[in-house]
Amino acid sequence: MTDLVIPLADLRYAALVPTVPSELSPATGLLSDRLGRPLRDLRISVTDRCNFRCSYCMPKEVFDSQYKFLPQTSLLSFEEITRCARLFAAHGVAKLRLTGGEPLLRKHIEVLVAQLSTLRTPEGRALDITLTTNGSLLTRKAQALRDAGLQRVTVSLDALDDAIFKRMNDVDFPVADVLEGIQTALRAGLAPVKVNMVVKRGTNDDQIVPLARHIREHCGPGVVLRFIEYMDVGATNGWRMNEVLPSAQVRQRLHEAFPLLPLDPSAPGETAERWRYADGAGEVGFISSVTQAFCGECNRARLSTEGKLFLCLFASRGHDLRALLRGGHSDEQISSAIGLIWAGRDDRYSELRSNGTAAIPSGERRVEMHYIGG
Ligand code: SAM
Ligand code: SF4
Ligand code: SF4
Repeated sequence: MTDLVIPLADLRYAALVPTVPSELSPATGLLSDRLGRPLRDLRISVTDRCNFRCSYCMPKEVFDSQYKFLPQTSLLSFEEITRCARLFAAHGVAKLRLTGGEPLLRKHIEVLVAQLSTLRTPEGRALDITLTTNGSLLTRKAQALRDAGLQRVTVSLDALDDAIFKRMNDVDFPVADVLEGIQTALRAGLAPVKVNMVVKRGTNDDQIVPLARHIREHCGPGVVLRFIEYMDVGATNGWRMNEVLPSAQVRQRLHEAFPLLPLDPSAPGETAERWRYADGAGEVGFISSVTQAFCGECNRARLSTEGKLFLCLFASRGHDLRALLRGGHSDEQISSAIGLIWAGRDDRYSELRSNGTAAIPSGERRVEMHYIGG
């Protein structure tokens, strides 16, 4: 008799096998969760691997040579991802974001982009397809991604100073290569390029003004810098509140160097608060997930690398859609199961954290950012 071997990686997070309702209900595009929030945005993690080791996300001590990343067979194939995305689009998802890990490490990612770009909303519109990257492979990939139908990219960049940047990515990657990636993306027509800077007090907060200045002077209004509060995602980054620099203080520092004026939000559920430079040099954004929870309008779902659906960035359990995809279920069955999952959603972790009542069930741990993406 041979032993049944269950790969360790598959047991990584608690997952529920979704219920397939016996009475199927066709997608209406009007799905709403228990708090009345629609489903509009799907973030898809295409790999759990990364060539950086940012300490706030994949600290080297944990994600070392012994760490077991998911085997190739666990990953959703491009066809499985596209099938899922099509079912989500029928439920009202209008925006897809490819993420990871580092999404540009997934081989032939542009083929997935081309497949996703054939999808339509119930009204017949193409979906908005974007990708978040650390920028290390962007110079090589930007044009192919654009040609495949990608509309925009978000590049993570935490410092302009090379020594600080190398310390933060912890693999000695030079800032010049990321800056070149941003320029290549602009030339390829992936504009506006958003640049995300995670601000950690005492680590890179002296980079707020220099990075903003660089973007104003060398990139122009086609690049929008966004400051992100350092979050308590996952269980490995040793998060401490005193390392969070509240967005209000980041904004104040920037305003002293370059006066700012507020802008209206461009879309409901938008995570970033938008401001513009008073001198017309473009806009900046502030994402205040810690000090100003925005759960009330959260319309995002996340699909992990191995096909688990997470309803919140801080969830400890996913819903195993891959089990349905590979279990011979029909589109109608999977679509009904997704509808049921979203209808039961009441997640609002950041709000609960703000009022001191956030908790996860004992024996479970929060999902890591590199596994479900940002
Ligand atoms: N590797 C790609 C990148 O870095 O852009 C995509 C995946 S990464 C998990 C997505 C985003 O999450 C990045 O902008 C990253 O800075 C952000 N992120 C990761 N850990 C974070 C944390 N603890 N707090 C705030 N943002 C975080
Ligand atoms: Fe990699 Fe992005 Fe996480 Fe940094 S933030 S370790 S680049 S996945
Ligand atoms: Fe959405 Fe969860 Fe973040 Fe709240 S904490 S905004 S529900 S992902």
